[in-house]
Amino acid sequence: MIPFLDLKSINVKHRADLIEAATRVIDSGWYIQGQEHQAFEQEFATYCGTQHCIGVANGLDALILTLRAWKEMGKLSEGDEVIVPANTYIASILAITENRLKPVLVDPDPHTYNLCPASLEKHITAKTKAILVVHLYGQLAPMPQIMALAEAHDLLVLEDSAQAHGAEIEGKKAGNWGHASGFSFYPGKNLGALGDAGAVTTNDDQLAQTIRAIGNYGSHKKYENLYQGVNSRLDEMQAALLRVKLKHLDADTQRRREIAAAYSTAISSPAIQLPAQGTESDIANDLSHVWHLYVIQTSQREQLQRHLHEHGIATMIHYPIPPHKQQAYQDWNHQSYPVSEHIHSNVLSLPISPVMTDEQVQKVIAACNTFVDHYTMTQG
Ligand SMILES: *Cc1c(COP(=O)(O)O)cnc(C)c1O
Repeated sequence: MIPFLDLKSINVKHRADLIEAATRVIDSGWYIQGQEHQAFEQEFATYCGTQHCIGVANGLDALILTLRAWKEMGKLSEGDEVIVPANTYIASILAITENRLKPVLVDPDPHTYNLCPASLEKHITAKTKAILVVHLYGQLAPMPQIMALAEAHDLLVLEDSAQAHGAEIEGKKAGNWGHASGFSFYPGKNLGALGDAGAVTTNDDQLAQTIRAIGNYGSHKKYENLYQGVNSRLDEMQAALLRVKLKHLDADTQRRREIAAAYSTAISSPAIQLPAQGTESDIANDLSHVWHLYVIQTSQREQLQRHLHEHGIATMIHYPIPPHKQQAYQDWNHQSYPVSEHIHSNVLSLPISPVMTDEQVQKVIAACNTFVDHYTMTQG
């Protein structure tokens, strides 16, 4: 079976370095907010090109703490509207509602799955104070246009970069476009820890300080509490392991691009709609996409998933139920976001990861291309 994501192989490749890093932490006698944490923050800020990186406990906290900090700084108040794509992973929306802000869901561009500046602009009202931009599946949203809009309307921009480590447009990376950005280092993300971890990047000194304090009991200074904070810290062990993984991120991304280019060039079943157009070299050289997921669309999802499973290929659906149809947001269940609903009922993610072999990639392509026969046969 070709697994959807072989986390064990991804980490075992760096076994010796990970053990060395873990040993360094064990032997240091210092386990929270020490040298590893500080070094990782510096290294990741440098990677993203930002002034600051603040390590936190997970990606959801990175988003929650940023919005919370803007509230403490007087830049947001309860009830303010935050524009967010309707098809995002639910964490983006949880961060907004957790802060008692009002999510304004916007249907995405049906081809890129990301916010489209023109439809975004139509949803800006006098109450809109921020945009939570999600770089879904690893593709950077059209940030030059979104930032221009935000500036024109005086809006804060928070990037959800949980799936887009290293994606760039015009030489500027995810995490360095908005006023702040949340990253997740959940094990399955492109830069994955061996447990939960996350970070905020920003160029705003005051925001960085405020997030740091809120994530540490609201304290700037030991035993002095400025805010009713929480405990959300990146621990030394995960920071040390992430430092090892960060060194390989660009090579891993390159491999993801090669696989995506191979899929997009060779998958030819008429029943399958590929994620991006263009030539193989366009895809391999497009720096705006880091291919966290390779997502196709098909109106025959169940059949295709079963067909691939029978050929020894695991697939997943990102995501089967849109946030507005979740029990958690019952009040919105009657609302309609047709683009998102179409996406949620048609998308299927093929396996993609830096440890996939060429042979596995060819097997996925071959199985996708035999689906046409199966499809024609069952139709005929
Ligand atoms: C993974 C993810 C998150 C949340 O990250 P965690 O570390 O799991 O809390 C937020 N937004 C998006 C788009 C994600 O994919």
